[in-house]
Amino acid sequence: MLTIYNSLSKKKEEFKPIRPGEVKLYVCGMTVYDYCHIGHARTMMAFDLVNRYLRDQGYKVIYVRNVTDIDDKIIQRALDNGESTETLTQRFIKALEEDTQALGILAPDAEPKATDYVSEMIALIETLISEGLAYVGSTGDVYFDVLGFKSYGKLSHKNLEALHAGARIAIEEAKKTPLDFVLWKLSKPNEPTWSSPWGAGRPGWHTECVVMSRQALGQPFDIHGGGHDLKFPHHENEIAQAEGAYHQTFVNYWMHVGFVEVNQEKMSKSLHNFLTIRDALAKRKAEVLRYFLISSHYRSPVDYSMEALDGAESALDRLYGALRGLDLSNAAEHPIKSTEYENRFHAAMDDDFNTPEALAVLFDWAREINRIKSEDLSLAQALALRLKHKAAILGLLNDDPDHYFQNNSTQAIPLVEIERLIQDREQARSVKDWKKADEIRAELLTRKVIIEDGPTGTLWRYE
Ligand SMILES: [Zn+2]
Repeated sequence: MLTIYNSLSKKKEEFKPIRPGEVKLYVCGMTVYDYCHIGHARTMMAFDLVNRYLRDQGYKVIYVRNVTDIDDKIIQRALDNGESTETLTQRFIKALEEDTQALGILAPDAEPKATDYVSEMIALIETLISEGLAYVGSTGDVYFDVLGFKSYGKLSHKNLEALHAGARIAIEEAKKTPLDFVLWKLSKPNEPTWSSPWGAGRPGWHTECVVMSRQALGQPFDIHGGGHDLKFPHHENEIAQAEGAYHQTFVNYWMHVGFVEVNQEKMSKSLHNFLTIRDALAKRKAEVLRYFLISSHYRSPVDYSMEALDGAESALDRLYGALRGLDLSNAAEHPIKSTEYENRFHAAMDDDFNTPEALAVLFDWAREINRIKSEDLSLAQALALRLKHKAAILGLLNDDPDHYFQNNSTQAIPLVEIERLIQDREQARSVKDWKKADEIRAELLTRKVIIEDGPTGTLWRYE
């Protein structure tokens, strides 16, 4: 039984899709004016696992992740760069695609762009006005009237009175109350505009997700996700609009992903510890970064440091190490019953996508493969193949193990030379010339190549 922690109830709940066998999933995507940082990567990775696991469980998943291609930051950056907002956003949409592909994040089924849905957003705002939930403020912008939506605060579990009291100092004159949020913003000169019943302008950010999720998935739909920082006010504001306008539940399960910290500090541009996906990929293999991002539970904060990446790399080395020297293409001929490991793996994933626990199962499994390699090669191969299949659900161990260990473009020693030295060492060992064999091993080690003699022969890897 799959359980999901629902931010709405603050509890793990049994997952029951609206339509049996089908899951409708919406995740708030990127505002495309810069490269994605690893906090964005973590959110996209978390939902990549949700998507992959639900599909593995036989669900038909319809996964929508929007693209915010109009907002204040985009307009400002385009002005600073002296380019149009379209040129800017197209460039970063492409960068987003490259980054997510590098990390093995599966593309969503739909990636709607906000600017393609402006007329639908205008229609939603008109509905909100006719429902008495929105008003034109003194400056001409249109606002949502938060006090008119009685259950405002139910997702973030915030007390409305306390929120109002806290917000009073920051009151903006155009609004009735400080928590009211903008639905339609009149445009200034040189800004992209759309015509509307309230004048030329553009929609506020909180409106687009309501419109795009309803268009693609209907209302209600099953799972809505995003980063932890979107719970309030963004997701609270989405609920207020969708439920206020259409008088029905917006979403059944709300999922939120924890922050990424850098050396135990919040990642921010001002602290100079802002790390893009590209920066991280320049330091480590994509699969290592992937492993790092899923090695903590998606709801916990995760701390990025070079030590943490080293830890992820050696953990991944151990998993690949178990597969080395085994012929996985023949393993299918030795069917074995569903193992204890498979059951434990699924129990972990069914428990609110508990990836650290699922990875721990893979380690126990790898240890057993290593143990029986010398005793029963065919069983080891069969177990290894099953392990590889489960790891693939996490997007791991898709590489050929030899390629994984031997593919390191930063190493100076040519591959042919390594192989020649290893052959020389084999030759020395076969005539029991242990001195020479040891010398070759030492020479390889000075060039960061490690020799491992095992039950399946001699293997090598980079240090
Ligand atoms: Zn959103």
